[in-house]
Amino acid sequence: MRCTKCKGTASIELRRHHSAFCKPHYLEFFDRQVERAIRRHKMFAPDDHILVGVSGGKDSLTLWDYLLRNEYNCTGLHIHLGIGDYSDNSFDRTASFAREREASLITVDLAESYGMGVPELSNALRRVPCSGCGLSKRYILNKEAFDRGFDVVAMGHNLDDEAATLMGNVLHWEVGSLARQQPALPSNRDTLIKRVKPLYTMTEREVAANAILRGIDYVEEECPNSVGARSIVYKNALDDIEAKSPGTKHGFVSTFLDRIRPVMETSQEDFDLRECTICGQATTGEVCAFCRMWQQARAKKEKSSKTHG
Ligand code: SF4
Ligand SMILES: [Zn+2]
Ligand SMILES: [Zn+2]
Repeated sequence: MRCTKCKGTASIELRRHHSAFCKPHYLEFFDRQVERAIRRHKMFAPDDHILVGVSGGKDSLTLWDYLLRNEYNCTGLHIHLGIGDYSDNSFDRTASFAREREASLITVDLAESYGMGVPELSNALRRVPCSGCGLSKRYILNKEAFDRGFDVVAMGHNLDDEAATLMGNVLHWEVGSLARQQPALPSNRDTLIKRVKPLYTMTEREVAANAILRGIDYVEEECPNSVGARSIVYKNALDDIEAKSPGTKHGFVSTFLDRIRPVMETSQEDFDLRECTICGQATTGEVCAFCRMWQQARAKKEKSSKTHG
């Protein structure tokens, strides 16, 4: 297999692009695609202060690495979720990445700041771990960005993530979520910080190849709670289709963004947002979903400790 650019030995074949690249040309291609996504969606300006959500996995470390190499003004935010060894390893990789590059890192420990880690939260709520975890991650990323005066929040979601989310939203006709599914979600209120996904055009395999070729030391193990998650079912289904028809994932997401979502914009409900009476973040009700969830979890934990104590 030969590199499409220099005819040297190729390290990676990209069937959806009908091309193959050697290491330097692949890294050049990868950066160009990310840069194109950032420009096309006006994700951020060179002097914007960016808060990057960093889990320690290949996607978020690849994104942080890209932003640092391109001298963006960025800081990482890692949330320690309290999921056993997985969380400890994730934190270790994130911290050593930051140390090696002298990058600034903020860490929020869920149990220390809010009283429970993900497993305890899930037990108290009697809900699957991902539901409380996902809501907490989104909320904390936005809240920290707001409190600390960042202009934009950047997340490492890749094309596979976006295609799986889109598939889930379409299968369940989640109209509100579809309208919000954008690579750059603008801020529509002071407390809601703009949210961007610069890697959304790159597949999981392409991001992993970039991370490996750049020598990024990321956590390879998956979160133990991801086994059986619905998003994995969708990802596997999309992988099967992609194998038979390369380019399907990209076509699915880009056609939605170019043709379907703009039509939805006009039918998007104009929610009457106000401030959460507990934390001040934007909400449609009195108390935001995050504060409601934690109130419930703490009350149930207290009740069960009284019953068992
Ligand atoms: S798989 Fe679920 S519990 Fe694990 S990090 Fe992701 S959202 Fe959280
Ligand atoms: Zn080459
Ligand atoms: Zn709140």
